[in-house]
Amino acid sequence: MALVGVLALQGAFREHAAAVSRLGADVRELRQRKHLDGIDALILPGGESTVMGKLLTELDMLEPVRQRIAAGMPVYGSCAGLILLCETIEESDQPRIGLLHASVRRNAFGRQVDSFETDLAVKGLDAPLRAVFIRAPLITAVGPDVDVLARVDMAAHGGEGERIVAVRQGNILATSFHPELTPDTRLHSAFLDMLPA
Ligand code: GLN
Repeated sequence: MALVGVLALQGAFREHAAAVSRLGADVRELRQRKHLDGIDALILPGGESTVMGKLLTELDMLEPVRQRIAAGMPVYGSCAGLILLCETIEESDQPRIGLLHASVRRNAFGRQVDSFETDLAVKGLDAPLRAVFIRAPLITAVGPDVDVLARVDMAAHGGEGERIVAVRQGNILATSFHPELTPDTRLHSAFLDMLPA
């Protein structure tokens, strides 16, 4: 059985742990560098990316996490977790893992509509997923090796055009929304499918 580490320094980690354990995975909450030893996959939850980045740096975990991901360990980042994974964070020099070839804009939906839910078509899922956005980031650019899995129509949120809200780049999966806050485990299941059999 796969051992999935869920970064548990801050934010919505319990819900992710519950989702993957419902799917039959073993879960370990990660609070120290040594907890990284032996995990097969990693989830970076939503929360506050600046705080998580700072804690990862102080606990000497940022570089080991980066190395494990660079070596191919599957990782899933939701919301703040997505921000931590991105190479470029608009107007911010906050600490990051930075391995996802994408640019991200934090709190991109503005104050008026900072939280909302929508049914989202996600590539690879049979039917739309209920997606919960909370002070969510948007991906504003992706590299050629990044597969776009979902987009949101911004017209419904006071903007224009479509924006990217779910991506995959090899062993890296990232969403601007929070699938862990609904009972639907299809996205976590797709993540576990990224583990070698
Ligand atoms: N706005 C948060 C950040 O910039 C992310 C919000 C979330 O994870 N729900 O880190």
